[in-house]
Amino acid sequence: MSLTLAEARARSAQVTDVSYDIDIDLRDHAGECFGSTTTLRFTTSAARTFVELTDARDLVVSVDGRPVEAAYDGRRIVLDDLPVGVPVAVRVEAQVPYVSDGDGMHRMSDPVDGETYVSAYLSLDIAQRVFACFDQPDIKATMAVAVSADPRWQVIGNGRVTSSEAGRWTFATTPRLCPSLFVVCAGPWHSVTWEHAGLPFGWHARASLAAELDRDADELRRTTDDCYDHYARLFDEPYPFDSYDQLFGPGHNWGAMETPGCVTYRDELLPRGRVTDDQRSRRATVIAHEMAHMWFGNLVTMRWWEDTWLNESFADYMGYRVAADGAGFPGTLVVHESTRKPAAYVADERRSTHPVAPAPEDVPDVDAAFTNFDSISYAKGNSCLRQLVTWLGDDDFLAGVNAHLTRHRFGNATLDDLVEALDAASPRNVRGWAEVWLRRTGFDTVAVRRDHDGVPVLAREGVRPHRFSVTALAADGTLVGTRLVDLDEQEVALPEWAGLAVVPNSQGETFARLRLDEQSAQVVAQHLGGVTDDLTRTVLWAHAFDEVRTGALSVDGFLDLVERYLPGEPRPALVSAVLDRTLGPVLTRSTPAADAATLVDRVAAACRAALGATTDDQVAIALTRGLAATSRDADALLAWLETGRTGEGVDLDPGLRWSTVARLAALGALDADAVEAERQRDQTFAGELGAARALAARPTPEAKAAAWAAMSAPDVSNRVFEATALGLWDPERVDLCTTYVDAYLADSPAICERRGQGFSLVVGRNAFPALELAPEQRQRLADTLASGSVPSVLARLWNDQLDDLR
Ligand SMILES: [Zn+2]
Repeated sequence: MSLTLAEARARSAQVTDVSYDIDIDLRDHAGECFGSTTTLRFTTSAARTFVELTDARDLVVSVDGRPVEAAYDGRRIVLDDLPVGVPVAVRVEAQVPYVSDGDGMHRMSDPVDGETYVSAYLSLDIAQRVFACFDQPDIKATMAVAVSADPRWQVIGNGRVTSSEAGRWTFATTPRLCPSLFVVCAGPWHSVTWEHAGLPFGWHARASLAAELDRDADELRRTTDDCYDHYARLFDEPYPFDSYDQLFGPGHNWGAMETPGCVTYRDELLPRGRVTDDQRSRRATVIAHEMAHMWFGNLVTMRWWEDTWLNESFADYMGYRVAADGAGFPGTLVVHESTRKPAAYVADERRSTHPVAPAPEDVPDVDAAFTNFDSISYAKGNSCLRQLVTWLGDDDFLAGVNAHLTRHRFGNATLDDLVEALDAASPRNVRGWAEVWLRRTGFDTVAVRRDHDGVPVLAREGVRPHRFSVTALAADGTLVGTRLVDLDEQEVALPEWAGLAVVPNSQGETFARLRLDEQSAQVVAQHLGGVTDDLTRTVLWAHAFDEVRTGALSVDGFLDLVERYLPGEPRPALVSAVLDRTLGPVLTRSTPAADAATLVDRVAAACRAALGATTDDQVAIALTRGLAATSRDADALLAWLETGRTGEGVDLDPGLRWSTVARLAALGALDADAVEAERQRDQTFAGELGAARALAARPTPEAKAAAWAAMSAPDVSNRVFEATALGLWDPERVDLCTTYVDAYLADSPAICERRGQGFSLVVGRNAFPALELAPEQRQRLADTLASGSVPSVLARLWNDQLDDLR
């Protein structure tokens, strides 16, 4: 079982002055296990405690140099008869298995060159799959780390390398960190390094991605330096660690992980062939997000996982802000408003929603904490912070944040501590604000109504104070003006805009549902594409996403908007968001299977029309992705493969080529031999995933059976499982998939029981059947959940899916 809050509280009260000497042995990187030897030094006020280490083999434990027989249940080593009140040294030596699912010491063999990479990107409950530790956030400790590995390799960790000789790397002892912030990445990395602000910096990627890293190196370096300098201006506390490496790692379960001194990113963020402007902007947002954690999360760490949001909301908010203001990627908020924030509204209406800031008791154990890494903790929390900054003003917000960081540096803190600092820095009542915005679930509605003179009146349905922009539009959609309003229980009339359409929250400052009056709704429906402000147009698209989900707008009406306004949309990020929303939730959750093909055809036609209308190559790429996913014209798609470019002249990068191959396979126009020929062309790990997806997409019972068999292999990697599922589920061919929906529902609990939390995330979220479930399948899903036999991480994700299906 995972650690409970009660156990964590008891242990942090008992154990003090902790440090770790960690010695990792990766020399047998082809074997089943790596060597993990940890000496934990601490003082305890009771003779009995425990440390975590999962699945240890050949376990040897000693206390102050004396071997002891410690009870071990596969996760916890119980230590008895410890000396009380004096420093004690516990040495734990073991062999620990490598993993293929990112949850532990992840090992990956690169098919391009046969090179092996071994990395531990940690998070909740994963430190204990690498080294023996007190695996909880409020027992912080210094870490002295040494790693033995292939002498040809490079090993990167939290601290600077102080020596590396004959295959042994020693790192500078870190400041006090919690175990989940440990990191080790080992392999023949290709590196770009430099010095900035007196510190060593680096970017690293697999050797087979050297060309991609070199292609983007200047931009990655500039973005890193700019973010660093920007944070140096925002925060009083200096950067708290001794180096700043960043690494694109294989098999990552997260977008990235903020481990101090060595941030790791999933290597899909270094795309092969081509990186689009949209990808560059999103990547800069992630870079800025992870760097914000160096202060928020790493320097000042939450006490228990109820304050996950405090880490993630803050970093998420800063990520969009600093990428735009500090690193030269304007318009990042278009992505937040069109993808992340709509997902947060959905999450906030599920049964599983929770306050942005739950009470510690509402997160009773680490499994529960894991499920809170969700849209509430990230996107809603980010939106609430943005509202707070709008409501407080930036100066007071930063003054409070800086006081908080200085007061708790290298320690732990809670929401109450932050609220106290903000309250002291501002004349406004931050406590009252936090109570309604952070301690309650759900969101308000901001409604527009008209009084008898045609004056628009804003009314709040809910309990929260709001400050946001309102924009007035003329009858032809042209922008008349924008002003900031405060909306509380008092209605706000806008007499200067009598007779005009109005859009509340037109810059997205608040988190609330919109309900437009009929006049405003009509102007928006007739002129959405003509709204020239990118963010306002994005807010209006997100409003349409919300309406089609709640049924306020029919799917047909939504597709009318797509057909009218996808052509002419100038922002690639918004094109992608509209297509993703339409081919994602609208297709798989709001459309009966019988109508799926019609929807797909309408989207394909809209993409074709838009491609004919655009001269922007970045927009064309986004539209081509949509067309590759929806076209039924196999001859045209085959011609793309033949020539390496589309009829409109868009070059196929490897990702786009594999999407085209998958679509052709789904149409029955490419057989297994043809997919294999494509794989021969692209003998990379991404090529293996592309082939797995395409093979699974073939519309035959045999192909679907083979796909499910591949997903059922006991050691299937997280990425292969996900890629195969992407091909397997076909909303247009529910007939072929239904057997495997049954199998998925029957087998997933056991799969998740066997694998870690990260794999459960892949199973329950990314690999959930993306098609209409039959009523009896929904019932079975509900019954299985009610039986209580589903592991908690999967249960949470499945309950969310069930809510979305309803
Ligand atoms: Zn984060």
